[in-house]
Amino acid sequence: HLAVQIIGGGLAGSEAAWQCARRGLAVALTEMRPVRATDAHVTDGLAELVCSNSFRSDDAEGNAVGLLHAEMRRLDSLVMAAADRNKVPAGGALAVDREAFSRDVQAALESHPNVTVTRGEITALPDADDGPTIIATGPLTSPALAEAIRAETGENHLAFFDAIAPIVHRDSIDMDVAWFQSRYDKGSGSDYINCPMDRAQYDAFIDTLLSAETVAFKEWEGTPYFEGCLPIEVMAERGRETLAHGPMKPVGLTNPRAPDRKPHAIVQLRQDNALGTLYNIVGFQTKLRHGEQARIFRMIPGLERAEFARLGGIHRNTFLNSPRLLDGTLRLKSRPWVRFAGQVTGCEGYVESAAVGLLAGLFTAAEAWGEAVMPPPGTTALGALLNHITNPAHAETFQPMNVNFGLFPELPPELTRVGKRKLRGRDRKAVYGRRALEDLAGWMRLPNRRLG
Ligand code: FAD
Repeated sequence: HLAVQIIGGGLAGSEAAWQCARRGLAVALTEMRPVRATDAHVTDGLAELVCSNSFRSDDAEGNAVGLLHAEMRRLDSLVMAAADRNKVPAGGALAVDREAFSRDVQAALESHPNVTVTRGEITALPDADDGPTIIATGPLTSPALAEAIRAETGENHLAFFDAIAPIVHRDSIDMDVAWFQSRYDKGSGSDYINCPMDRAQYDAFIDTLLSAETVAFKEWEGTPYFEGCLPIEVMAERGRETLAHGPMKPVGLTNPRAPDRKPHAIVQLRQDNALGTLYNIVGFQTKLRHGEQARIFRMIPGLERAEFARLGGIHRNTFLNSPRLLDGTLRLKSRPWVRFAGQVTGCEGYVESAAVGLLAGLFTAAEAWGEAVMPPPGTTALGALLNHITNPAHAETFQPMNVNFGLFPELPPELTRVGKRKLRGRDRKAVYGRRALEDLAGWMRLPNRRLG
């Protein structure tokens, strides 16, 4: 099959279309707008930015999303090229003129001889006869298609909201205060980190929580609360001790530094990625404002200097449990001619969505030409993001995430020192960046690839 069908002309679908077209595939791209609208898009342009006009940091040496920009540019990304052509001043960030950006992406695709753009809603999953397909319908996938996906994958494997607990970099947790232990010592020794609170600390925490500012739901978002998944501030409103009897219950755990003193409450953090570099605060999904979250969660003993890989939130967001449903090259296991791409796979953000579109396009083209389909190394931002989405070890705790250095394999000790000095902060991040770009270059040089 030297043709591909792409459903959804957002960030991911546009990038996937470009990558397939420049590798010689005939691309049929179907976008439902303006035939059918979403609750967030306001134009009928391809690659519309629905909210901010920023692609975030452009610093490849100090920031994981900046590194992702650099990797995508090396792979001739249309989204990055259009962003660079239409950028507006924004300090170290890459921000764009959103209308010019969308027009640019659309013109590049519509003028490409291999691409046909059609407007209309697709409501069913493609059959094998339809040939290779990439589904990139985004966080606001139309209800009919979402229902078809849900029927195929099972009820529990397609979410309509993300209820996200904050995620903390493990190396920012003070292990002189916190300790490793699973409740009743079940599971392995490093599954959970525990932070103890005495009565006074708990009271201060609850008071601050009850007076904190939250973010309102948009009208169309409805209220998705169901009892298993209440925001912590809502639980605290129901009674001062609700959290101490719920997610912060102190039972089955013993503080090795004070075995005879029972804490009033214990905040647990659960290992969040296979690498063990990230931990999420168990049960702490929240609608608190981001600034408030950092302030309040740093009141927790052991988290005074916590660095957050992502803060908590609850949003309308349709996404798959990709670690369970997709294989390592984004194919739906039950229909391997279908790949998913973009935010519907459980990445988060414009750039990440486009990056997963880029990968889906590359993989589909390689497969069409009978080449080996090789994912990029896990040390690259593209590979780290792909691993977050497709590693089956993440199935239980899977939530959407922006790219960040916590998703990368840790650096070998010899790369983290200069003489006796241990690299920290930006210097350390720069090493991740250099390793990634070297490994990407090696991967791009592999034979039998149509990457150029
Ligand atoms: P989209 O860009 O949404 O593209 C999906 C496309 O598929 C759409 O054009 C849609 O019309 C089309 N489609 C849907 N169903 C069908 C169907 N059945 N048939 C045919 N076409 C279909 N990220 C950021 O980095 N910064 C932000 O500020 C930001 N703000 C956001 C605000 C909101 C309200 C939402 C919902 C998300 C936001 N995101 C933001 C997250 C995310 O990065 C964007 O949603 C991004 O556009 C996702 O890219 P995508 O290609 O996966 O989906």
